[in-house]
Amino acid sequence: MSDTTTTPSQGDELAELDRRHLLHPWTPSGVSEQLVVVAGQGCEITDSYGRTYLDGRSGQFNATLGYGNKRVLDAIQEQAGKLMTYALLGASNEPAVRLGARLAELLGEPLTRTLFCNSGSEATEAALRIVRMYHALRGNPERTTIISLADCYHGTTTGATAMMANPLAWTGCGPRPEGFVQIPSPFPPRDPAAAQDGEVPGAEALEEAIQEQGADTVAAFFVEPVLGVGGIRPLPSGYLARIREICDRHGVLLVVDEVTTGLGRTGAWFAHQREGITPDVVTMAKGLTSGYAPLAAVTVTEEIGRTFSGDPMLGGLRHGHTTSGHGIGTAVGLTVLKVIEEDGLIEHAATVGDRMCRALADRVGSLDGVREVRGQGLLAAVEFTSFELGMQVQNACRAAGVVLRCEGPVLAVSPPLVVTAEQVDRIVEAIREAVLAHAPSAS
Ligand code: PLP
Repeated sequence: MSDTTTTPSQGDELAELDRRHLLHPWTPSGVSEQLVVVAGQGCEITDSYGRTYLDGRSGQFNATLGYGNKRVLDAIQEQAGKLMTYALLGASNEPAVRLGARLAELLGEPLTRTLFCNSGSEATEAALRIVRMYHALRGNPERTTIISLADCYHGTTTGATAMMANPLAWTGCGPRPEGFVQIPSPFPPRDPAAAQDGEVPGAEALEEAIQEQGADTVAAFFVEPVLGVGGIRPLPSGYLARIREICDRHGVLLVVDEVTTGLGRTGAWFAHQREGITPDVVTMAKGLTSGYAPLAAVTVTEEIGRTFSGDPMLGGLRHGHTTSGHGIGTAVGLTVLKVIEEDGLIEHAATVGDRMCRALADRVGSLDGVREVRGQGLLAAVEFTSFELGMQVQNACRAAGVVLRCEGPVLAVSPPLVVTAEQVDRIVEAIREAVLAHAPSAS
């Protein structure tokens, strides 16, 4: 940790104002002192007390290029000076057009048409309405049911939370909308006792759910290639291919949520490409702008996109926002994708991510208190035997100058794509030291 010019009193003032005036998303109040970040450079962030940390979580998985990237800052300034935005309702703007075209190149045919939104949740909500409207326009208005994995997370809007089985999503904020069905996630049960004789549910759970609902009532299956909030669990290899085949057989659309995994995080442009499948709809957000602007996207196949021209009420898509395709956001997106390509960050993420996952397995995986280590590229998790240990490790890492976030018993490890091998090693060693200091057998 190194000192900067901020003073302790500024730190105290910000901490107090934060406590009094902010509601933090998905964060228990008062569990631990909030980290108020005031500056960032490369993979490092500085808090309101002037302490500098290595950011092992990329903000919330989004700061893929790290902080203070000059090419992105220049792009923001240039676009803001030229035209901050022009709404896409009945008009268009240059960076939005160019980013739509670039995403079509990266995703490959038939994924050619993009709707821009402002957050991952909005992208989910848009995808949900798109798949239902698509079926209705094709003469199948009864195809409305959405199937998802029980441990999924697709965002915080009404439709997105309706896809989740997790009681956190709905307790005290019902009624839940109808038309949502969850199937078991393809992982062994968390409870070790149940895991011994429990079979791991496979793709046949989707087949069964479709049969049970009646294929002609099902609109789409939504899935994350790596379950994020559900524990950073990569889907078993081959699962998506089986799902694709089942969806095709029943006329069900496959929506792949790449909000966290997309744009390099797993060491590929998109995680589904590692499995050689083509979704009907892809959603993305976080890495699309590396956190330099709020932007998300829903890309659909040419056929789905074209279907909306036949809408008898509008002759187009009845969905979107004033800021869909915002000029500064899309200019940032174009630049971020350019930097990723020019700097070879996909290959770098694959290589350094592999090193990180192996080091976590070797140095942390067999320690007392660690249930499992898993990951893909620069998206990894250390699962502890208890929530308390996870929090202790999170706090000890922070005291050692490495910021990480624990959700439940799962510590996410997801540094920016520009992280160096040395920084990765530092993160792993900080976790190891923290586990050794706090695991039950250490006390
Ligand atoms: N989908 C996935 C897989 C996510 O991980 C998230 C957020 O973490 C979302 C959707 C929602 O994105 P946002 O927080 O931008 O609304």
